[in-house]
Amino acid sequence: EQPIARALQGLGTDYTEIAAPAAVGSMGCWVSVSGRPLRDDESGQVTGAVVTFRDISALRAAREHVAELALTDELTGLPNRRAFSSCLQRLVAEGGRGRNFALVLLDIDHFKRINDNYGHPVGDQVLVAVGRCLSGRVRSVDFVGRFGGEEFCMLYVDVDLERALGLAEEQRRNLQALTQPHRVTASFGVSASYGDHRPDADRLIALADAALYRAKREGRNRV
Ligand code: GH3
Ligand code: MG
Ligand code: MG
Repeated sequence: EQPIARALQGLGTDYTEIAAPAAVGSMGCWVSVSGRPLRDDESGQVTGAVVTFRDISALRAAREHVAELALTDELTGLPNRRAFSSCLQRLVAEGGRGRNFALVLLDIDHFKRINDNYGHPVGDQVLVAVGRCLSGRVRSVDFVGRFGGEEFCMLYVDVDLERALGLAEEQRRNLQALTQPHRVTASFGVSASYGDHRPDADRLIALADAALYRAKREGRNRV
């Protein structure tokens, strides 16, 4: 498969990306390799090869950075809605093979008042603090992201509905204890995929959303 060996066998290689082994004390790099055989004009026999190597380490790093940006919320640094959707899709597939999980949506209560009373930049700081508070408390296999605006989403793996409600309640209490830059509360909605109850991704979101709005209606600051 080596481009030079391929060229000598009469085969071309176009922009194949390979990891170049690191020399002692250096980082190693990625190269893009293209190659062509050189042939004798008369006989057509392969007499040599031309192979070019281009260092694409910086290009690959930039590509990875862009891929990461596409899945990250700029303000909070949390995974964004797109990252949440793909994680949820993966879990729904695993749910089909019997894995239990739960989805939690939360919406900050009366967040508009924070913006109105203290200004949008302070509102932003509150969102960052809430994101930090939420993500500081989950197990490493679980997911916390920004769903959009002042809404956040969490995924808990290998839990039943009862346990998920308990975890959401814990998060609600943690948030309530947050004092900087401002006190806030949030309302939570929980849905779960367990046993024979296996809703698809849209349905799980709709169920959690309906539960969240019930929490709002019944007085906010509750699961
Ligand atoms: P409720 O308890 O019913 O949820 O009331 P609320 O005021 O939180 O709800 P509403 O949906 O009316 O207001 C949400 C506000 O969140 C409005 C919007 O300007 C604000 N918001 C959304 N995204 C951002 C953001 O990135 N930064 C800031 N500072 N505010 C945001
Ligand atoms: Mg909202
Ligand atoms: Mg709100």
